[in-house]
Amino acid sequence: MKVLKFGGTSVGSAANIKRVKDIVLNQNDAVIVVVSALGGITDKILTAAHNAASGTGDFHTELTEIRKKHDETLHELFNGSGSIKYIVDELLDELEQILTGITLVGELTAKTLDRIAGIGERISSHIVAQFIGAERKDSSEFIQTDSNFGKASVDFKVTNERIQKTFEGFKGKAVAPGFISKNSKGEYTTLGRGGSDFTAAIIAAALDVEILEIWTDVNGFMTADPRVIRKAYTIPELTYSEAMELSHFGAKVIYPPTILPVYQKGIPIQIKNTFEPENPGTKIVKGVKNGIDRPIKGISSISGITLVTLQGIGMVGVTGISMRLFTALAKVNVNVILISQASSENSISVAIDEHAIDLAESAIREEFEKEIAVGQVNKIEMESNVSVVAIVGENMKHTTGIAGKLFSTMGKSGVNIIAIAQGASELNISWVVKNEDLRKTLNTVHESFFLSENVEVNIFLMGIGTVGGNLLQQLEKQQERLLKEKHLRLKLTGIANSRKMLFDRDGIVISSYKESLESSDKPSSLQGFVDEIKAMNIYNAVFVDCTASDEVATVYKEVLSSNVSIVTANKVAASSEYDNYALLKKIAKQKGVKFLFETNVGAGLPIINTLNDLVNSGDKILKIEAVLSGTLNYIFNTISAEIPLSKTIQMAKEEGYSEPDPRVDLSGVDVARKILILARESGYKIEMDDIDIKRFVPDALFEGTLDEFWSGVSVLDAEFEEKRKILEVENKKWRFVASFENGKAEAGLQVVDSAHPFYDLEGSNNLVMYTTERYHEFPMLIKGYGAGASVTAAGVFADIIKVSNI
Ligand code: ADP
Ligand code: ASP
Ligand code: MG
Repeated sequence: MKVLKFGGTSVGSAANIKRVKDIVLNQNDAVIVVVSALGGITDKILTAAHNAASGTGDFHTELTEIRKKHDETLHELFNGSGSIKYIVDELLDELEQILTGITLVGELTAKTLDRIAGIGERISSHIVAQFIGAERKDSSEFIQTDSNFGKASVDFKVTNERIQKTFEGFKGKAVAPGFISKNSKGEYTTLGRGGSDFTAAIIAAALDVEILEIWTDVNGFMTADPRVIRKAYTIPELTYSEAMELSHFGAKVIYPPTILPVYQKGIPIQIKNTFEPENPGTKIVKGVKNGIDRPIKGISSISGITLVTLQGIGMVGVTGISMRLFTALAKVNVNVILISQASSENSISVAIDEHAIDLAESAIREEFEKEIAVGQVNKIEMESNVSVVAIVGENMKHTTGIAGKLFSTMGKSGVNIIAIAQGASELNISWVVKNEDLRKTLNTVHESFFLSENVEVNIFLMGIGTVGGNLLQQLEKQQERLLKEKHLRLKLTGIANSRKMLFDRDGIVISSYKESLESSDKPSSLQGFVDEIKAMNIYNAVFVDCTASDEVATVYKEVLSSNVSIVTANKVAASSEYDNYALLKKIAKQKGVKFLFETNVGAGLPIINTLNDLVNSGDKILKIEAVLSGTLNYIFNTISAEIPLSKTIQMAKEEGYSEPDPRVDLSGVDVARKILILARESGYKIEMDDIDIKRFVPDALFEGTLDEFWSGVSVLDAEFEEKRKILEVENKKWRFVASFENGKAEAGLQVVDSAHPFYDLEGSNNLVMYTTERYHEFPMLIKGYGAGASVTAAGVFADIIKVSNI
């Protein structure tokens, strides 16, 4: 014999009840089917009852919906006629009468509530029994409980006898309502919310059946609640203890008391999906396959928790404090979900249901009144809006490093852990976090323990001009390959241009980002963008700055402080005041996130990375000489008898090598910023003002408007042509060189001969030469394209990949 339980969704509509029929009729064995109320009905009955008792007394909205749902179902299954219609209407009338009664007295007792709470099950069991053509058995006639209305305790002795008698020699198919029971006086009681699972387990254990099947709307017990973690997947096998822990800590898929009766009899539980009957789901059994399974089987969480902390120096070494605390809470029926006490005994924290906060506080104050008066206990703190999260797995006890991995992942994600508890059985590690950190916590833990084969990075991109746009193209092209080969999922989670911004936790589809951004109803704002990143509180997040904006750089501090990494092509922050640069680096370090700006110098060339590697491995930078402006190099490579200076500047702009205002390049400021950054990364404290920039264009041209510059710049042509001719004869070239030595940085035009490494620097290329203690006689050279949208985007891309630590 088997017991099959179908939950609310499984019997939630006529179509679903038809599926149930198929499943039941497919069984060869004798079957007892336990059903919940039609999905959502219990909630509606309870709301109706509370509304009836409240001032307005209006329960009709709910009642109408309850009637409608049943009418529709009956209509589809039985054409709305026959004896079943009569039975259902009678039960609904009974419900209406009691609700009217509650309205009249304006009061709702737990006993009255139980009188009606199970009407949904009483009805559904009639419907399903008739539709399947099975016998209906009334659970309330054989499950006897005490009078703890709302969540009564079962009298197993009486109940088991009655069940055995009811089903003696039973061979066919029967349907019974879940959730309902009666006390010894014959009054209705219920087994607690979700209690239909328990009903099924009670019957299964009493009859010592072969298996208990819980049919629900998911493919069994999953690694986490699939409604929160979309990537959660089915756990094929769990032990009773693991299932107990997971469900106790919020995995709603099974009501926790369900497990004990079947565990005692060694009856396996199979969790199956009514909507995918071929899926094997989860089997809950006794034995564990040690060492084969993952150490962690699943994660679950409970929200709506308050953490109560009792604190006082006077508690240290005093015996009986915890006993008194727990007794005080037990006396007022407050259930303790988690306990944590430091070995100093200076404080003890317990997690309780937030609804019990007042009850708990007054009970504790009363119990410790004397200690509070004399200051032995000096604080009773109630921290609400917190959640308890638990990871569960029997194999944890055979594996070291779980807690270390767990808490370091939490730390990196910026989740503050308020309290921790681990039982000596090592079956469960639980901890308390703020509600707002819950989703991130679950995601982070799920990712690191279950999906470690795939690392996910969430990208928030600010600025989609040439570099940003190019980055997105590269990202789109590489996404699939990275996932397949590197198990790295790069997800575009947020994006903004100057007008609009767009966010999507599941990832914005890159091929259509333009249209999606265009149709977004969120106007762009820098602070709004940052606020949204913070509110999404997503793990492994990276803020990518592809603007050249001073303003964007002002939010870096806030972004890093929120445990979000930064990858930036924008030079403003790294070349701002030294204190700001140093502070940003410090925050990144403290928070365990990255602040990367490789493209600030030489676009995609590994200039900063190499410098970091040299310094980190103990080398000392003695001298840096570099051609760092692609624009200026292009200009001095292009200048000729036919192409005068002014024309080369224009061409540089047209080719996209220069800044929109080429004077930024000509002034040498851009080069100065770069050498400043290199000097800082070499470990020197240096400011922009310390750099000696020798301009080759007269100051006057920098002072006017851009138009005035364009019309005035040709006056330089003659003088440059004269000098150029001489250089040509001497086989020499101009290079705009930045250098750093002995703590001093400078930038200016230099003449190099053909033996110099800078001589053969084509086009807009950059070249950096590091003279270090190790690379002394022959300095290290890094050379290549140092400008352009696609190499810059590639450099940003590489930095983003660095954030993932793959
Ligand atoms: P039923 O009405 O069939 O009793 P419930 O709603 O009580 O179903 O429980 C099933 C639901 O439990 C699923 O739809 C799912 O959202 C939720 N759930 C929470 N945690 C888990 C988990 N770890 N695995 C599977 N489902 C879970
Ligand atoms: N219908 C009841 C509830 O919603 C019992 C159950 O479905 O398990 O709590
Ligand atoms: Mg349930």
